[in-house]
Amino acid sequence: MDIEALKQGLSAIAAILGMLKQAKDLLPDGKNKEEIADQVEKAERQMQTAEIQIAKILGHEICTNHWPSGIMLSADKKHWKCPMCGNEIKPQKPQSTKHPASGIEIL
Ligand SMILES: [Zn+2]
Repeated sequence: MDIEALKQGLSAIAAILGMLKQAKDLLPDGKNKEEIADQVEKAERQMQTAEIQIAKILGHEICTNHWPSGIMLSADKKHWKCPMCGNEIKPQKPQSTKHPASGIEIL
């Protein structure tokens, strides 16, 4: 699977959805407007789910404190931070930093 192409496709769809949302506001109130609003909302939720799936494939940690789930960011792939709520995953410290037989630091 070409992840980059998938990401680009998703952001193109996101841009179209954004435009649809704005265009919908120009419509006169009525059944059609409600239907379009419903469909756009559904598509947005599906987009968010797809984005989270891709983030997982790319190795991101996911913050599940809220919906849509946050795609956590990391500079070193050890220390993760959720940009939405500030939730953090810190690297776990190893139990012992010394080699049991030799006593040499192995960290
Ligand atoms: Zn979060």
